[in-house]
Amino acid sequence: MSNGNPESPTTQTPAAPAPSNFLRDIIAEDVRTRKFGDAVIQTRFPPEPNGYLHIGHAKAICLDFGLADDFGGKTNLRFDDTNPEKEETEYVNAIQHDIRWLGFQWERLCYASDYFPQLYDWALQLIRAGKAYVDDLSADQIREYRGTLTEPGKNSPFRDRSVEENLDLFQRMKAGEFPDGSRVLRAKIDMASPNLNMRDPVMYRILHATHHRTGDAWCIYPMYDYAHGQSDSIEHVTHSMCSLEFADHQPLYRWFIENLGIFPSQQIEFDRLNFTYTLLSKRKLLQLVQEDRVSGWDDPRMPTLSGLRRRGFTPEAIRAVVTSLGASRTNVVQDIEMLEHFQRDDLNRRARRAMAVLQPLKLVIDNYPPDKVEYVEVANNPEDPAAGTRHVPFSREIFIEHDDFREIPPPKYYRLSPGKEVRLRNAYFITAQSVVKDSTGNVVEVHCTYDPASRGGNSPDGRKVKSTMHWVSAPHAISAEIRLYDKLFLKPDPYDVAEGQDVLSNLNPNSLQILTSAKLEPSLAEAAIGDHFQFERVGYFCLDPGSSESRRIFNRTLPLKDSWAKIEKKSGA
Ligand code: ATP
Ligand code: MG
Repeated sequence: MSNGNPESPTTQTPAAPAPSNFLRDIIAEDVRTRKFGDAVIQTRFPPEPNGYLHIGHAKAICLDFGLADDFGGKTNLRFDDTNPEKEETEYVNAIQHDIRWLGFQWERLCYASDYFPQLYDWALQLIRAGKAYVDDLSADQIREYRGTLTEPGKNSPFRDRSVEENLDLFQRMKAGEFPDGSRVLRAKIDMASPNLNMRDPVMYRILHATHHRTGDAWCIYPMYDYAHGQSDSIEHVTHSMCSLEFADHQPLYRWFIENLGIFPSQQIEFDRLNFTYTLLSKRKLLQLVQEDRVSGWDDPRMPTLSGLRRRGFTPEAIRAVVTSLGASRTNVVQDIEMLEHFQRDDLNRRARRAMAVLQPLKLVIDNYPPDKVEYVEVANNPEDPAAGTRHVPFSREIFIEHDDFREIPPPKYYRLSPGKEVRLRNAYFITAQSVVKDSTGNVVEVHCTYDPASRGGNSPDGRKVKSTMHWVSAPHAISAEIRLYDKLFLKPDPYDVAEGQDVLSNLNPNSLQILTSAKLEPSLAEAAIGDHFQFERVGYFCLDPGSSESRRIFNRTLPLKDSWAKIEKKSGA
C-alpha cells in the first residue's frame, strides 16, 4: 500500500474484466429497446427430473439465475416432467437441494405437468386451425416417412384428416381408448423442410404410465418441443436460455408460439460446459450408478454437484469457474485442471490447516524426556489471521509420513535419512540415528535425536535444514480412514474408445484408494461435515458424511501440487 488512503486508486486491485457473455449483451439490448415492454426479465432453469445435476448444469443455473439477477429480473425453477417413465421424486428433491447449495433461490417452483390442461387446450386450438393432426403411422413408419438430411420427407396418409375427425380422435386418445404407440398428434408444418424438426413433429404420444405428480390422470404426454416453449410462454419467460444442441429446435419453438399467438418467449442457445476426463450425460451417469461402478450419484468421483460437494468442492469455486468462462456460441472442452485450480485457490484462502499423517511411520526421539508433553502454538490459516491459532501436542513418540524417510536416499532427496537433519514443522530439528526393521526388512521405526535449542523450528546458530516435515504426536493421535480420489476416466475424452467398446471401458480402475491407518492431530476430532482442511503438505480434505465417531473418514478434495512427484517422474524413478 503506497499511502494509507483506502480511496486512493493506487491501493485498489483493478477489477478483472468481465468475461465476454453475449447473453448479457442481448438482454441489455432488449431492456434498452423495451422489447418486452414493462415485463420484468424472466428466466427459468428447466431440468428434467431424471437424474442429479452435474457441473454442466451449474453453468446453465449460473446464467439463468445470475443474468436475471443482474437485470433485476426473476428466475423460476421448472421441472420439465413430461416423461413419466424416467422421472422420480428423489431427483426433484435432490435438484432443489443442489440449486440452493450453489447459492440460488428461485422465484416460483413450477412443473411442466401443472400445464398439462393448458397444453391440451392449445393442442385443440391448433387442431381447429388445421395445424395439427392425429397420425396412425407407427413410430418406425414415422421415422421412415421423415426422410433424411438430403431427402425430403413424405406426407403421412393421415395428414389430411378433417378437423372433426382429428378432434374426435385426439379426445379419445386422451380418454384412454387407444393403446400405447397406436396414434400420435403431430403439428402440420412442412415435410420438405430442410430442418428435420419442422417435418410435422410429434406433439403428443400415448403412454399409460403413472406420473410422479399427476398419477394416472393422463395417458397422453406432450413431447419436449411442444411442452417447453409453451411452458416458457405461460410463465412469461423473456429469455429462455439453453445449450447449443437446441439450436435446430428454435424454429419449431417459434412456430408453436406464433401459431398459438401467445406470449413471445425467445430461446437463445449458449455453449455447453465440458471438461476433460469428465462425462456429463445423465444417461451415462445413471449407468455408472446402476452398474455399481460408483457408490451412488454423490460418489466423490462423480461430476454431479452432490458428488463434488461430498468431495469437498465449494459453491464459491464452482460459481467462479463458470463465471470466468462467460458464454459463447462455440462448445469447448475445458481442462479439468482449470476447475481444480479455482478450487485450490478458494480452499487455500478458507481451509483450516492441520497435520495428518496418511501412511504413518513411528519415530522415537531418544533424547526427549519420556513423559514430557509440549504444546506448540500454530496458526489455523496463515492466509487468514482471523482464523486464530491452536495448540498441538508434541511428545517423544510421533508419526511421520512413511515416504518422508528413506534408509538409502536417492539423489536430491532432502527429507529424513540416517545422519540427516530436518525440521519438524513448528517444533524441533531432529537427526535420524538408527532404524528398527521387521522380519522382512521393512523399516518400522526410526530413532533420532533432537536439538532442544531449536524449539519453534529454528536453531540459534543459524544452521539450515533443507526439509520441513509434518508430524503427529503418537499418544495424542486420532485414527482415520482416508479416501484418495483420482480421475474417473483414463482418457481426456472418455468417448475415445475402440470400435464396439462402451465408454465405461475407459474407467480408471485406480480412481479410489483407501488408506485405513492414518493418524491425525487431535483437533480434527471436532471436524464437522462441511468443514474444509488443508492437511499440511498433503492436500485438501473434508469429513465424509458417512463418518461416525468410531469411524472417521476424510475425503481428499485435491492434492497440493507435488513438486517431488514431478522430479521423480522426470527422472523415471
Ligand atoms: P444431460 O445432457 O446431462 O442429460 P440434459 O440437457 O438432458 O442433460 P436437462 O435436465 O434437460 O438435462 O438440462 C437442464 C438445463 O441445463 C437445460 O437448459 C440444458 O440446456 C442445460 N444443460 C445441460 N447440460 C449442460 C452443459 N453441459 N452445459 C451447459 N448447460 C447444460
Ligand atoms: Mg435435455
